[in-house]
Amino acid sequence: MTEFYEKLVNAADKDHVKQNESMGKHTTFRVGGPAACFVTPSDGKELAAVIALCRREKVPYFILGNGSNLLVGDRGFDGVIISMADFSVCRADEKTGLLRAGAGVLLSKISQEACRASLTGFEFAGGIPGTLGGAAAMNAGAYGHEIGEVLHSVRVLTLSGEELELPASRLELGYRKSCIIPNEYVVLEAEIRLEPGDQESIRNRMNDLASRRREKQPLEYPSAGSTFKRPEGYFAGKLIEEAGLRGFSLGGAQVSEKHCGFVINKEQATASDVIALCEEVKRRVFESSGVKLEMEVKTLGMF
Ligand SMILES: Cc1cc2nc3c(=O)[nH]c(=O)nc-3n(C[C@H](O)[C@H](O)[C@H](O)COP(=O)(O)OP(=O)(O)OC[C@H]3O[C@@H](n4cnc5c(N)ncnc54)[C@H](O)[C@@H]3O)c2cc1C
Repeated sequence: MTEFYEKLVNAADKDHVKQNESMGKHTTFRVGGPAACFVTPSDGKELAAVIALCRREKVPYFILGNGSNLLVGDRGFDGVIISMADFSVCRADEKTGLLRAGAGVLLSKISQEACRASLTGFEFAGGIPGTLGGAAAMNAGAYGHEIGEVLHSVRVLTLSGEELELPASRLELGYRKSCIIPNEYVVLEAEIRLEPGDQESIRNRMNDLASRRREKQPLEYPSAGSTFKRPEGYFAGKLIEEAGLRGFSLGGAQVSEKHCGFVINKEQATASDVIALCEEVKRRVFESSGVKLEMEVKTLGMF
């Protein structure tokens, strides 16, 4: 990696590159070993140069939003983590109802900006702890709505290094998926279309949804939200509860007592604790219901 590091600091500003960066600091699970290299590009040109270098040198890379749907192995990731945190512009236009934001902007910030501009339609997403890029890639959703409903267009960097502006209709949006990850596009920024609304009602709705989350979800512990995909016709949390696994723990990881769909980092869990717990949950749910649970949370690196 030393030789590669030298090339990396030629492709990117040296101040934007770190080595052996603990991924526990960059994931909401608060677990995970070090990334060999961690880069925070400031614009599309620097991003494209880093990706081109990784591809040329055959070094694996991973695009990081807020790490809120990610579990990194305890032995870390022997490649380059590319953080989108510096794609951080966020501006709503009250007149057109369009809000343009960088891929690294948190959904909570976007909902605040929409509220400031008295624009409605984004309240449902304010409590999802991801970035706009991650949410577009995953078509994140909550309370009966999905990002895809308000997404107008997305600017992406393609594998060939070209920047494309894609309308939402071309993103093949489905339940927690889009064509962004399969095509290895990187979202640079996106435009969201909202409606004029009453600021006080918007704020009340945001507060109401935030208190519903606090009441139902174990937000006091690190996690990556709903750990398993929703199996067709079922709810993962209910199946886990029916398998008698509420509060079930392995090492420092636990099936939340508050919400069985969440695996939490209860007490200094390792990534291996989390994975071992998830495997046991899958096994016991299959035994009790015949339903195969699949991970919603993405795993990366060496466990
Ligand atoms: C407490 C809690 C509650 C949650 N509630 C919800 C919820 O209600 N609804 C919901 O849908 N999810 C929920 N989640 C899960 C998570 O917040 C979402 O999946 C979110 O969209 C992930 O965004 P992120 O920026 O953190 O992405 P990351 O976890 O960093 O990455 C997720 C995936 O997106 C890719 N990606 C990230 N940024 C980009 C980009 N710019 N371009 C291309 N690909 C990119 C990554 O490579 C990765 O494959 C919750 C999580 C937690 C911890």
